[in-house]
This record gives sequence, C-alpha cells and structure tokens, in this order.
Amino acid sequence: MEPYGGPLADLASLITGSRSTIALTGAGMSTESGLPDYRGATGLWRNRRFEQLASLPMWRAQPVEFWAFYAERLRTLARAAPNAGHLALAELERRGLVQLVVTQNVDGLHQAAGSREVFEAHGTLREVECLACGWRGPAATAHAQLDAGAGTPRCIECESILKPAVVLFGEMLPPGFLSVPGRVESCDLLLCCGTSLGVPPVALLPSRALRAGAAVAIVNLGPTSCDAVATLRIEGRTGEVLPALLALLPG
Ligand code: ZN
Repeated sequence: MEPYGGPLADLASLITGSRSTIALTGAGMSTESGLPDYRGATGLWRNRRFEQLASLPMWRAQPVEFWAFYAERLRTLARAAPNAGHLALAELERRGLVQLVVTQNVDGLHQAAGSREVFEAHGTLREVECLACGWRGPAATAHAQLDAGAGTPRCIECESILKPAVVLFGEMLPPGFLSVPGRVESCDLLLCCGTSLGVPPVALLPSRALRAGAAVAIVNLGPTSCDAVATLRIEGRTGEVLPALLALLPG
C-alpha cells in the first residue's frame, strides 16, 4: 500500500492533467540536505534572531558579526548536496511535468540537482554583490578573504564591504519577482513544497493561484498558512513524498 495513499494519487492526476505546473519551494526542501531553517524559535544564532541577523541594518551597522554568521552559512553550504526532493523536482522538469521552480531558498540546490527554470525570490548565497559600485561575483571571492582572516570581505573593484547576493530583511525583492504573480495566475497547478507559506509576498501566491482557477497542492512537514484552502495537502518530507510521486508518473 502506498504510504501517502489517495492524496498522492490525486496529486499525480493533477500533475498529469496540468498544462503548466509551478513548484514553490522553501526551507523544508533543504533541511534534509543539512541546511538549518533559521526562522522560528529554534533559529537563534548567538542569541540573535534570524530576522535581525539577516537584515540590511545589521549588515550596515555590524558588518563583522553579520559576516561571521554568513561565513558559517557559506561553510555549511559548501558541504551540502541536493537531496532526493531536489532531484525529484528536477526530474519532473525533465519529463515536462514542471515548468518553473520559484524558490525562497538561497542555497542553489535546485540548480545543483539539475532544475533549469529556477527563480530565486530571495536571491542566492552562491554570489556576493557590492551595493556601492554594482560589482557581482562568486561567493568564493568572499570565502577566500574570510578564510584569510578578513572580518569583512571587500569588493575587488572599489573595496566597499560586500554583501551576499541574498535579499536581506529591509531590501526589495529582485525586480524579476514582478513577473512571478502573473505566471502563477496563468498556471494550472501550484505545487508548494517544504514551505509553511508564512513569509509574504511568496506566501500570497497560493491564494492568487486559487482565485485564478488553478489548483494548489501542498507537500510539507507541519502546518501551512494555506492548509484550509488548498486543493490537496500531503503531510510529509519532500525528500520522501516527491520521489514517491515521481514513481506514479509517466517516465
Ligand atoms: Zn564595489
């Protein structure tokens, strides 16, 4: 007997009947790759909340402590590999069953797993940027300077303090995000994976999809803000549910 029962078969039917499916992913996709979800009660780092650490005011006022936190994140990320959930989503795209991944994750693991159409709503930890001159480059640039003992990595063009190319609290979402709601409204299925749908504006996408007539499916461990309105919901880890889903779908 299939462990996720009827809902998994229903999800397989939704996907095969959908002309356009968008996956919306969050931190739950990557916890199985050993990357902690810093939000919430357990997310303290040196007694600071993630929302305070990962903020533009923190980067400006306390860049050394800011970069101590990000140096640790970069080191953890360097050891992380895509898990079965990332690989299953990439395979769904290869089979023509998923057209786009919109992710709140900044770890690049979807691309590492082979997903090609990925929009990173919160930017990426794989790159760094300079707000002074606009230079942008690989995070290895920061890595090398931090490993050499620098408290803060500096821009190779203008020597200003670099910033990870992630969207910090207090920053605007990337301009490309403006096109995402329209794409969500024109899809047939929004497949939400490993996200509690707690952070706007991404958290507002399911209701936009539903209003436009699309189905919304949720695969998550734990409750989400959209459970009551979702078309279907499967309680479980994405690294287990998505491979099980794949097994039900045409190769
Ligand atoms: Zn610069």
